[in-house]
Amino acid sequence: MAKILVIEDELKILQIIEAYLKKEGFHVYTAIDGRQGLDLAKNLNPDLIILDLMLPGLSGEQLLTEVRQISDVSVIILSAKTSEDERIFGLNIGADDYLSKPFSPRELVARVQAQLRRRNVSPINATTAILTYSFNQGTLLIDPNKYEVYRNQKQIYLTPTEFKILLLLSQSSGQVFSRGQLLERIQGNSFEGYERTIDSHIKNLRQKIEDNTERPQYILTVFGVGYKFGGTRD
Ligand code: CA
Repeated sequence: MAKILVIEDELKILQIIEAYLKKEGFHVYTAIDGRQGLDLAKNLNPDLIILDLMLPGLSGEQLLTEVRQISDVSVIILSAKTSEDERIFGLNIGADDYLSKPFSPRELVARVQAQLRRRNVSPINATTAILTYSFNQGTLLIDPNKYEVYRNQKQIYLTPTEFKILLLLSQSSGQVFSRGQLLERIQGNSFEGYERTIDSHIKNLRQKIEDNTERPQYILTVFGVGYKFGGTRD
């Protein structure tokens, strides 16, 4: 179950949010000032943060700016600052969503679920950093912003599905994904009987990125389980 960190100095509101999220089965952690919130954001590795802006210790804006330097966690701002400028500012410094006070707790829960869903089905959003891998003499560079991939400094062209598979595997280098998991993460569902389509995507992908498709270096088969990425990140 997802870990959610709620940073809010108004205890009444904090308790309401906590109760609603717990009812949905989330693991909820709370902080009542900015410093404590930042510490938890760094150490807890939450899946999502609900963030008030007007906080003692450290403002929500400062906190978010610091969090964004080290993490791409989903952040929903919950604030009494409701002007359009303030909303846009919040989104510009890296919030994923913005909800104004007073708010409906049920709407907040729905937005939390939407953020977590979006993150799960769209690995493209999970990072903005360029990923570089090397293996023996070769290098593989993946740019998630531009959807570009370079093999030994030369651009190669992947279909959106191939790109998603490569990004997902490489972001969790070494972790094994079953065909069902890959399908679910790539297209948001996993229909029985479609799992073999993953194999054809992998086959095409290998033809584009591997030196020798019989002895792949980047995309490795884990027999009876699925696939994993074998490159080491630079
Ligand atoms: Ca406040």
